[in-house]
Amino acid sequence: MKSSNLGLRRLYATLAFTCSVWLLSSLVHSQDDVSVPFEISGKTMGPIAYKVVIADHPDSVTPIELQERVAEVLENINQLMSTYQPESDVSRFNRSQSTEFQTVDPKTAAVVARAIEISKLTEGAFDITVGPAVNLWDFGPKNLDFKIPTVSQTDAIKSSIGYQYLEVQLNPPAISKSVAAVNIDLSAIAKGYAVDQVATAMDDLGCKNFLVEVGGEVFASGERFSGGNWRIGVERPDDAGVTLGNIAEISDEAMATSGDYRNFHELGGIRYSHTIDPKTCRPVKHTLASACIIFKDCMTADALATAMMVMGKNRGEQLCQELGAEYLLVERESDFGDELTEFKSKSFPLLDAPQPNNSPTILQQILPVFIGAVVIFGLVIISMSVGAIFAKKPITGSCGGLANQTNDDGETSCGICSKPTTDCVEKND
Ligand code: ADP
Ligand code: MG
Repeated sequence: MKSSNLGLRRLYATLAFTCSVWLLSSLVHSQDDVSVPFEISGKTMGPIAYKVVIADHPDSVTPIELQERVAEVLENINQLMSTYQPESDVSRFNRSQSTEFQTVDPKTAAVVARAIEISKLTEGAFDITVGPAVNLWDFGPKNLDFKIPTVSQTDAIKSSIGYQYLEVQLNPPAISKSVAAVNIDLSAIAKGYAVDQVATAMDDLGCKNFLVEVGGEVFASGERFSGGNWRIGVERPDDAGVTLGNIAEISDEAMATSGDYRNFHELGGIRYSHTIDPKTCRPVKHTLASACIIFKDCMTADALATAMMVMGKNRGEQLCQELGAEYLLVERESDFGDELTEFKSKSFPLLDAPQPNNSPTILQQILPVFIGAVVIFGLVIISMSVGAIFAKKPITGSCGGLANQTNDDGETSCGICSKPTTDCVEKND
């Protein structure tokens, strides 16, 4: 007997020790959570928000150093590629009427070279020379009151739109145009490029698990802090533009989204998208409301997402299959309708919709116990009553108020109690 008590005590002690170790280790772990992941955020290229989430970093680099590096990389791209910076490579090129090669930074040359490649792949759907049409339809920097341009106005700019007027050389880095009026607009590729550049900089500093986002374009490296692939929300293309539609899980990949739900004009119930079809020099006109692309690098994903918005569902799907890009396309039935239909590639890594929480509420847990108790008490009371009424069996234990019950003649119900009061005993005698 003694030895079995000792065994039990030992078992309890071991259990208690294991629990305290587990509790302690989980506390230590949750203290780590406070320092990483940490987030770097700010604005770049004007109003565009950026965010970098660092899940871990080597001791050789401090969070401040990482923050400074991110800002430096983004500012450099802004200085080179923004049309708002009068001395950027892009602004100088657009001002120039020369058809000679103009020296640019190697980064600008690399982006223009990739843009031309994507123009060829998309048969001109993606075209960085659409700038004049972007301005004509009031999506450029001028910010005029929106009026639909006349046919002659659109015709007038057509002669300066076409990627085939551009030429690029990487060594030494330079770009040229064969038509003096040609302008370039890197808005649909520069954000993706910026994401890639920040990701490379983080990698160079020894970070392996991080997420970079510039204006909605993303690169996810390694794993998120709590383990597993990074989870990225895909907006639902409704006019609020902020509803979370789906969640994609990615690692060591980029994701970019284009749509007509954030930047558009509305006139007479018609939606005019900021994506221009370079062939017509007019905003695209089909049912695609958004295109989300997952690809190896963000520069390509960014450009492809815009190209999808020009190419439409069928051509777009075909190109993605050829390139091995994952896609999630959303079609809208009418310009301002709520009816949305999704089409995705087979391996688009959607996280399953969250399961409804099936665990019972406290009320649901208590209710069966309560009902059980009521039933048991009810049965006991009924059986006591049956015994007392029909078998004339006295109630054992305390009779409570029963002994004081009187009949119509004012007599006490002494016979019902197994421990009658002195009054009852006297009366019975
Ligand atoms: P977002 O800025 O929302 O990511 P996009 O990446 O699709 O959207 O970029 C849209 C911008 O790209 C437009 O505002 C315009 O400046 C430019 N653009 C419009 N149409 C085209 C096109 N067919 N090819 C390349 N750039 C375009
Ligand atoms: Mg984009």
